[in-house]
Amino acid sequence: MTQPVPTPHYPRRSTRQIHVGKVAVGGDAPISVQSMTITKTADVEGTLQQIYALAAAGCDIVRCTCNEIEAAEGLAQIVPRSPIPIIADIHHQYKMALAALEAGVHGLRLNPGNIRKPDHIKAVASEARERGVPIRIGVNGGSLDPALYEKHGGLTADAMVESAQMEMRYFEEVGFDLIKISVKASNVPLMVEAYRKLSAVTDHPLHLGVTEAGPLPGGLLKATAGIATLLLEGIGDTIRYSLTADPVEEARAGRQLLESLGLRERKNVDLIACPSCGRAEIDVIEVAKRAQDAFADKQLPLQIAVMGCVVNGPGEAREADLGIAAGNKRGHLFVKGRNVAVVPESEMVDALVDWANYIHEHGVDAALQRVDTTIAEREAARDRSALLDEQGADANRSSEKIVEIRKTVDG
Ligand code: SF4
Repeated sequence: MTQPVPTPHYPRRSTRQIHVGKVAVGGDAPISVQSMTITKTADVEGTLQQIYALAAAGCDIVRCTCNEIEAAEGLAQIVPRSPIPIIADIHHQYKMALAALEAGVHGLRLNPGNIRKPDHIKAVASEARERGVPIRIGVNGGSLDPALYEKHGGLTADAMVESAQMEMRYFEEVGFDLIKISVKASNVPLMVEAYRKLSAVTDHPLHLGVTEAGPLPGGLLKATAGIATLLLEGIGDTIRYSLTADPVEEARAGRQLLESLGLRERKNVDLIACPSCGRAEIDVIEVAKRAQDAFADKQLPLQIAVMGCVVNGPGEAREADLGIAAGNKRGHLFVKGRNVAVVPESEMVDALVDWANYIHEHGVDAALQRVDTTIAEREAARDRSALLDEQGADANRSSEKIVEIRKTVDG
C-alpha cells in the first residue's frame, strides 16, 4: 500500500536534465539521494557490499574514490555489478578521471580547486563528452583555488560561484554540457548563500550538501539545516549528507528528509511518538526506540505512532495509519484513531509490527473490519476514564508535591 505524496507548496526551480546511468537528475526528475563508499575502491567485494547496503537504505547514486590505478581497476569490476550508478571522485590527478571513464563509470566528480590546469580539465571533459558521461563540478569551500581566495578576500559565496563558472567555461570550450554543480561549505549560512547565488546564474542541475558536517547528531542538524532550507526554496536536484558515520546513515537521512518534505514517495515507516509527559503510562522513549528498531529494515510506507497514554494518544495521533497508546498496563492499538485491539504492555511492539504488516498487505479498511472494534473502544474508554479519575487534570501530581513542599518548609 502506498500513501499519496502530498504536493509540495514550493515550486522547484527549473533545471536541465542529465542522466547518471539510469538515474535522471534535474528537470522534473525526483530529487535523488547520494552517498559515498568509505572502503578502498580496490577492495571490490567490500565496496560492493557497502554499495548494496546503501542501495537498500535508499541511496540512488553512489560515489567511490578513484585516487590510484588500483581504484580505477576496482571500478572496472564494481560498475557492472553495482545495483546503482557509480560516480568516480577525482581530486588531484586528471589521469584518474580518464582511467575511471575507461572503467565505465556513470559519472565523474571533479574538484576545480584541485585540478587547475585548463588542458587537463578540457581533456577530461572531451573524453566525457565522447562517452556521454556527466561531470559534477564539485566546488568545496575547504579546497578553493588560492587565486580565487585571494581575489575575493577569503572564502565567500561569490568565490565559490566563480570557481564553478570558470570550470563551466572550460567545459563549454570543448562543447561539453552534461554538468551538475555543487558549492559545498561546512558553514551552513555560507553554503546556503553560495547555492542561492549559483542557482541565479545557471540552470544546470545542482547537487546539495554541507561538507564535513561531522558526527551525529550535530552533523545531521547542520546538513538538514542547509539542504532543507534550499529544497524549500525549490533549489536542488540531488542531495548528499556528508556525515562522519556509517554511510548507510547518510542514505537513510537523505531519504527521510525527502520523504518528510513530500519530495519523494514514502517507502519507509514514519515513526511518530509523543514526547511523553507526566501522564505517560509507559517509558515512551524506550518503547519508541524498540519500535524504531523493529521497523528499521521494513519497507512499509506507513505512519505509526507510539503514544504514552490512552487519554490523549489516539486522538492526537488520529492521522497516523496505526498507533499504540498505553493505559492501565495495557497497550491500546488504534488504526486511523479508532481503537482496534488491547494487548499486554509487553506485547505492544510485536502487535504494532503484526498490524503494520496486515495494513500494508490489506489496507486500512480491511484492518478496521478485521476485529469487532466496539470491544477495543469500550476497553479504551474504561482505561481512559480510570486514568482521568486517578490523575485528573493534575497529571504531574503537582498538588501532592505542593503539600509535601509545604510540609518540608514548615517542618
Ligand atoms: S500522549 Fe499522553 S503521555 Fe504522551 S504527551 Fe500526550 S498526554 Fe503526555
